[in-house]
Amino acid sequence: MAEKALIAQIRHLVKTKANPAVLAGIGDDCAVLRLPLRAGSQADILITTDFSLEGVHFRRDWHSPESVGHRCLARGLSDIAAMGGQPLAAFLSLALPPGLLPSWVNRFFRGLLGLAEKYGVTLAGGDTAESPNGILADIVLLGSAPKGKAVLRSGARPGDSIYVSGELGGSAAAVWKMRKNKRKLNPAEYTRHFLPEPRIALGQVLREKRLASAMIDTSDGLSTDLSHICEESSVGAELQTEAIPRARVGKPLREVDLDLALHGGEDYELLFTAPRNKRIPSRIAGVPITQIGQITRNRNILLTNRSGATRKLEPRGWQHFRR
Ligand code: ADP
Ligand code: MG
Repeated sequence: MAEKALIAQIRHLVKTKANPAVLAGIGDDCAVLRLPLRAGSQADILITTDFSLEGVHFRRDWHSPESVGHRCLARGLSDIAAMGGQPLAAFLSLALPPGLLPSWVNRFFRGLLGLAEKYGVTLAGGDTAESPNGILADIVLLGSAPKGKAVLRSGARPGDSIYVSGELGGSAAAVWKMRKNKRKLNPAEYTRHFLPEPRIALGQVLREKRLASAMIDTSDGLSTDLSHICEESSVGAELQTEAIPRARVGKPLREVDLDLALHGGEDYELLFTAPRNKRIPSRIAGVPITQIGQITRNRNILLTNRSGATRKLEPRGWQHFRR
């Protein structure tokens, strides 16, 4: 498909409702955005960019085009969620191999734009090129947060409690199973993997109510993502093994192995810390919240089980689809 025709197709598909933040979107040299501001207030801009690469983040024989499009945008939205931000606009750089069917592209955008509409995000531009092999998609997301209020990774303090939303390991369980069986799965039984829901509303509540001292989204796996918080905050952590909420996936539903919950990536839940005296509801914005441990002064990450045995938790997160 010629680049011009492809852009025309994308432009036709993007008929988002008017977004006051996007004065000009696809069709000019640059998009023109205006940050929505309340009178007398200032906002900070959040920007994040994420690759979705065929063979690394998805496989065309295992993931529907809709899932690839959805997950591509969800990666970026989840980063905005992890700051407690409000997403505004997305930009997509797309390199497609020659011979890719227009129907694949259409379905990819159906997945991406469906999620965009749900979160009031406008696809406001991008770039298009031919790829020598494999599909490459780079998503840029712009968002905003009230001045100085974005929740960083660096705010965790010794004594803070550690919380995680939803359940962990469900996405990695799908990858593990596809690899083992060498065939695709029913997406309805593994929605956490195929159609992850970014925790935008939860992130915003945690920021607005000043509940979270530090926050990150679980894209690389609990062990790795917690190590990022610990490094940025110069602290350590202790987790209680039995407290970690393990995903239940498949048919019949089955709880994933502990290792998948500890190290499996791409769940796009929120991992955050809060001072001990903050009361954290067990459910926020419809998402269950579980306390899984505490921040410590000692700078390593320990895992303790009910019988008191303690071991060191090394960060060994996400390996994607590398063979
Ligand atoms: P330029 O020569 O300025 O780079 P292009 O011909 O690449 O312009 O793009 C024309 C318009 O289409 C621009 O507004 C650009 O942002 C948009 N666009 C190009 N590719 C994509 C894409 N993959 N997704 C969304 N918008 C795109
Ligand atoms: Mg261009």
